[in-house]
Amino acid sequence: MLLIQDNIAIINLSAAVTIPEGLGPRRQIMAQLHSAQVNEWIQGVVLLDDGTGFEVDVLAADNTMAASLSAPEFRELVAAVRSHPKPVVAAIVGDASGCGLELALACDARVALVSTSVEFSDIRMGLIPGAGGTQYLPRLIGVHAALGMLLQGKALRATDTVCVGLFDEICEGDVIDAAARQIAKMTAAELPERRKRENDLDPVKVQICIEEHRSKLNTRQKLQPAFQGMLDAVAASALPLVEGLGIEQKIFENLISTKAARALQYLPQAEHKASELPAALHATARPVETIAVIGAGTMGAGIAIAALEAGLTVVLLEQNEEALRRGQARVAEHYRERVHTGKMKAARAASCESRLLASIDWTQLKMADMVIEAVFEDLGVKQDVFAKIDAYARSGAVLATNTSYLDVDAIAQATVRPHDVLGLHFFSPANVMKLLEVVRGSDTAADVLATAMALGVRLQKVPVLCGNAFGFIGNRIYNAYRRQCEFMLEDGAWPEEVDAVLTGMGFAMGPFEVADLSGLDIAWSMRKAQAKKRDPRERYVNILDKLCEQGRLGRKTNAGYYLYIDGKKVATTDLQVRSHIAQASADRGIVRRTLPPAEVQRRALLAMVNEAALLLAEGVASRAEDIDVVMTQGYGFPRWEGGPVFWARQQDRKQLEEDLAQLSRDAGFGYILCNIDVLL
Ligand code: NAD
Repeated sequence: MLLIQDNIAIINLSAAVTIPEGLGPRRQIMAQLHSAQVNEWIQGVVLLDDGTGFEVDVLAADNTMAASLSAPEFRELVAAVRSHPKPVVAAIVGDASGCGLELALACDARVALVSTSVEFSDIRMGLIPGAGGTQYLPRLIGVHAALGMLLQGKALRATDTVCVGLFDEICEGDVIDAAARQIAKMTAAELPERRKRENDLDPVKVQICIEEHRSKLNTRQKLQPAFQGMLDAVAASALPLVEGLGIEQKIFENLISTKAARALQYLPQAEHKASELPAALHATARPVETIAVIGAGTMGAGIAIAALEAGLTVVLLEQNEEALRRGQARVAEHYRERVHTGKMKAARAASCESRLLASIDWTQLKMADMVIEAVFEDLGVKQDVFAKIDAYARSGAVLATNTSYLDVDAIAQATVRPHDVLGLHFFSPANVMKLLEVVRGSDTAADVLATAMALGVRLQKVPVLCGNAFGFIGNRIYNAYRRQCEFMLEDGAWPEEVDAVLTGMGFAMGPFEVADLSGLDIAWSMRKAQAKKRDPRERYVNILDKLCEQGRLGRKTNAGYYLYIDGKKVATTDLQVRSHIAQASADRGIVRRTLPPAEVQRRALLAMVNEAALLLAEGVASRAEDIDVVMTQGYGFPRWEGGPVFWARQQDRKQLEEDLAQLSRDAGFGYILCNIDVLL
C-alpha cells in the first residue's frame, strides 16, 4: 500500500523489507514506484528510511551478490528511480551505505539528518560500487572528493566538507518536510534537463585528477585490483552516463571473481566465526563492568585505554608510585593527543579518564570483575603476582595473563582457582591492534572463556580461541616463518632480498625489518633459554646470535640486520652482516645460490602452512580459518591474500604436498611435516 501525504508518495524502504508474501524489498519498492507513476495526483516520491533503509543489507536482502550478476535487479531499481517521470527525493534518517547510498545518489535530490553518515566500503571487500556509485558520486561532489571517499572506504558525516554537493538539505527535524520542499522546487517538465547533469564533468580535468590519485597509490594498494578498478570506473564518469554505467558494471563483474575480492569477503566471515566458542564450550558470560590491569607499562596502559574507551571502569595497579606515575602519564598523553588532533571530543576523553583509578593499593582489586596482568615476561614474577591477585581478587573474578609465551597453566597454579584463569594475549599497541588470543588453560572454565570472548567483542577486538601451547597460534606460526627465512639466508639470500619479496607481496614489513624493530635481544634471550633443550642435530641458524654478541640489537642500537642512520634504514646489509651470513652458509657446507623471488615467497608461505596444519592437528587452533584471522589481524599478512590457510586452499594439492615434503627434507632433523588434510 502506497502512503500518500499532501500529494506526495512516501515509500518506506525499511518497511518494505518486513512485508511478507515472499517478495523482497526491491520488488516492493518497484511496485510502489509504479503506483506513484500511474496515480496522476501524485507530484513526487519520497524514498524514506526509518533508520536502516539506506543501509546496504536492507536493499540487498532479496538478492545475494552472486545472484545480482545474473539478475541485476538492484540496478533495475536504480534505473526505475532515475527514469521516474516524477521527482524522487531520498529522505535519510539513519546512515546511508553501499547500494542504499547508490539508490540515494540516483534520486533527484537528497535530504538527511545532521546525524547521518555515509559510506562506500566496497574497496574493503575488494570491489567497487556496482550500481552507479562511481558514476553519480563524482558528478555530485567532484572527482577528487569522490575518490577520497571511494578509495578510503570510510564513513563520513553528512556534514563533512567532502560531502558538499551530496545533500540538497541537511536538517535537524522532519526529513519528509525537507523532502517535500525539494519536490516543490522541481517540476516534472524540467526533470529530463536536471538529470542530464551527467555531461557536467570536464574530461581533461577528470583524467588529470585520476592520474594524480593513481600515482599516489602505495605498494599495498597497487597489489589490490579494486584500487585500479575504482580509478578506471571513476575515470568513466567523464563519459555519458550510460557508457559510464556500462564500464562500471564490467569492472565490478571482473573484480567479483578475483582472488582478492574472495579473500576480503572470506575474512570478515572468518572473524565473526572466530569470536564464537565451539558448541562444547557454550556458557553464559560473567558480567564485567570493572577490570583491573596490573602493570602500567606499554601493554597495561594500552589495555586500560581499550577498556576505558569501551565504557568500562579500570583500576590500574603498579608495583610502586614511580611506575604508576609513568603509566598514568601514558594514558593521559594518549587522550591529550587524541583531543589535540581532533580525533576525540574533549568531553569523551574526560569521561574515559574519569573512569580510571590508578593505585598501588592491591586491596582495590576487590572491585574488579576481571583482572588482566601485564607485568614483566618472567614466570617467577608472574607467579608472585598471581598469588597476590588470588589473595585480593573477589571470588568469581576472571583472572587473565597477557603473557606472550609463558605456560598459562604454570601461572594458574599460583592460585587456588585455576578454573578462573586464562591467557588474554593482546597485541601492541593494545588499544589499536584488533587481535586478541584467548588462551584456554587446562582448567579454564567454559564461562571464563565466554566472559573473555564477550569482553574481546566489547573492546572491539577480534578474539580467537587458542590452546595453551608455546607461542599460542600467532607466535608459533611467526616463529616457523622466521626460521624458514633464516634458512633462506644460509641458502644464499640476503636479508634485504627476503624482506623485499615479502613486502612486495604485501606484508607491511619483512621478517628482518620486524626483527630489528622489535629488538634482536628478545629472540636472543629466548634462544639462550631454549639452548639446553635444543638437539644439536637440528638445523639452527646462529646469525642473530652473532649479531647480538656484537651489540647489534636492532633499531634501538642503530644496527641489527641493517644499519640505521638518524633512525632511517640503510637499504642493504653491511659487510659485517654479510660475512656472518656467508660464514653460516660455509659452516653448514652450503654453496650459496641466488634464490628466485618466487621461491622465497613460496617457502615463507609453506612454512606457515605447515605450522598451521600442525596447530590444527594438535588442537591449539580449533578452526583452520582462525589461523588466517590471527595472521591477518596480528602479523601483517596481507588481507587480500586471505591468510596462509586461504592461500593453501588455492594451491594445486599435489604440488603443495611435494613442496611441503621438500621443505621438511631441507630443514632436516627434528622438523615435523604436517598432514595437510586437516587444512584443505
Ligand atoms: P613493560 O616493561 O612495558 O611493562 C611492565 C610493567 O609491569 C612495568 O610498568 C612494571 O613496573 C610493571 N610491574 C612489574 N612487576 C610488577 C608487579 N609485581 N606488580 C605490579 N606491576 C609490576 O612490559 P610490556 O611490554 O607492557 O609487557 C607486559 C606483558 O605483556 C609481558 O608479559 C609481555 O610479554 C606481554 N606482551 C608484550 C607485548 C609487547 O609488544 N610489548 C605484546 C604482547 C604481550
